[in-house]
Amino acid sequence: MRYTQYLLPTLKENPADAEVVSHQLMMRAGMIRKVAAGIYSYMPFGLRSIRKMEEIIREELDRAGAIECLMPMANPAELWQESGRWEKYGKELLRFKDRKATDFCMGPTHEEVITDIVRNTVKSYRQLPLNLYQIQTKFRDEIRPRFGLMRGREFIMKDAYSFDLDNEGADKAYDKMYQAYRRIFQRCGLKFRAVEADSGAIGGAFSHEFMVLAESGEDAIVSCDACEYAANVEKAELIYRDQQAPTASAELQKVETPEQKSIEAVAAFLKLEPSQLVKTLIVQTSEEELLAVLLRGDRDLNEIKLANLLDVDGVLLADDELVKKATGAPTGFAGPIGLAIRVIADSEVKGMADFVVGGNAVDLHYTGANYGRDFAVSQFADLRQAVAGDPCPRCDCGQLESWRGIEVGHVFKLGTKYSEAMNATVLDDSGKARTLVMGCYGIGVGRTVAAAIEQNHDEHGMMLPMPLAPFQVLVSMVNPKDDAVREASEKLYQQLLDLDVEVLLDDRDERPGIKFKDADLIGIPLRLTVGSRNLKESRVELKHRASGEMNLLPIDEAAGTVGQLVAEALDAH
Ligand code: ATP
Ligand code: MG
Repeated sequence: MRYTQYLLPTLKENPADAEVVSHQLMMRAGMIRKVAAGIYSYMPFGLRSIRKMEEIIREELDRAGAIECLMPMANPAELWQESGRWEKYGKELLRFKDRKATDFCMGPTHEEVITDIVRNTVKSYRQLPLNLYQIQTKFRDEIRPRFGLMRGREFIMKDAYSFDLDNEGADKAYDKMYQAYRRIFQRCGLKFRAVEADSGAIGGAFSHEFMVLAESGEDAIVSCDACEYAANVEKAELIYRDQQAPTASAELQKVETPEQKSIEAVAAFLKLEPSQLVKTLIVQTSEEELLAVLLRGDRDLNEIKLANLLDVDGVLLADDELVKKATGAPTGFAGPIGLAIRVIADSEVKGMADFVVGGNAVDLHYTGANYGRDFAVSQFADLRQAVAGDPCPRCDCGQLESWRGIEVGHVFKLGTKYSEAMNATVLDDSGKARTLVMGCYGIGVGRTVAAAIEQNHDEHGMMLPMPLAPFQVLVSMVNPKDDAVREASEKLYQQLLDLDVEVLLDDRDERPGIKFKDADLIGIPLRLTVGSRNLKESRVELKHRASGEMNLLPIDEAAGTVGQLVAEALDAH
């Protein structure tokens, strides 16, 4: 491709609304353009990376025995009513009516459509196992679309769905996809972790998320420094192996804590550590129950663990009015003593005695509080957020480390949630109807490319790994007006094309400084610079974008050498 005939609108400045590096660089390198909030056009340069990502996915899923299909973006409400998600899926589901006033939605995921296809076309166990996938545009009306392709409203996803006769088969399908995902992200040249995850709204038995490690990641993950355990903090379990049964030794005492509302402030006022306090959160569930949740003072509530424990869709911290209703006091003084609502506590509190709690009155706390003696706890459970340094829940010796990650892929074992609701059965070998056991598996195509940029960039621009880079080699003609330079560049360009190398020829009549700046910004992995000085000695300069390594190559060998470097870089992953 010739730069002068291409559309590569680079920008000098970061767009004001681009908060993360990948968004900034994708805009500046002319890969994407915004059409509306969370809705982007893929420009030619960006589309090349997207297509490469799709191709890697395709190759690995085909290798794993999955079969490609393509489902529609517009989904009839009927199917979603059958699964029950028409009511359940909140505002992210974009609903609309056609001219006959029939309800539709834009597919945010395709369990309903695929289950409908399979129940209508697969009748016998002999047609199983089956795994169907598509690479398709999804729409989710995200509340806060941001970070460019990372969290769009319209985005390309690969989604796959497996169908098996029994649990054992479904587990095998899950494992196959797990392995395929590992290969996919390895081939992209990414540093990632597969972590245990909460199964969330899609529901199901178990799931793993594939996380690209990056500081800007929206997810917090933990992994053990001694064993294989890794989990999203939403899910990370905590266990207390040698928790001692505490003995109360202090008397319960009321203390005045004027103007001290936060845990830190109360602890400082009483000359204690926050870990010697127990905080009481008043929580409202999606079923509108109010309850009190106790945690050690320096811990954070994991709302997902709580919602799972209570088997509700979600929980919210109660607002000031509800806190007042439950405790009789303004927010900041809640405590478990004398409360009329259900009190549940994090397991860690079980090992605590003689602690400080709120007094349910302005400027009042209790010291020397003990559960059992001073108030009742209806249930202890693992409810807090894991942090670095916590003991590993799986092995005896490890400690958890914490990371930030970008969720690029997700594998779920669904079980029979959709097949049961939609009556998707097949006949087994004895002629009996059996409900299909399903799995579903997603990869965010654009998000993965963005995550790759988060992991591979410097202050000058992006450095996408070879497998995802829009082009493999840039030939930079330093001065196109010099005939020798022009001829040599054209020849090199042709030789590279003949070797099937994806090459961009910078044939613009621009100052070398501008060309080099753009070259660093768009970050094509290998750059050959053809300049008159080196050419006089029949040499061209090769620069590796990521390492900055530079060397001179005899011009006759340049194409061959570079062709080989490209092949090696692709093989390495
Ligand atoms: P998140 O927790 O980030 O909102 P999710 O868990 O809702 O994502 P899934 O339903 O598991 O997402 O979708 C599968 C994959 O699709 C995700 O792993 C992610 O890579 C991608 N994805 C999900 N939502 C978006 C989005 N708004 N923009 C871009 N990619 C997305
Ligand atoms: Mg997910």
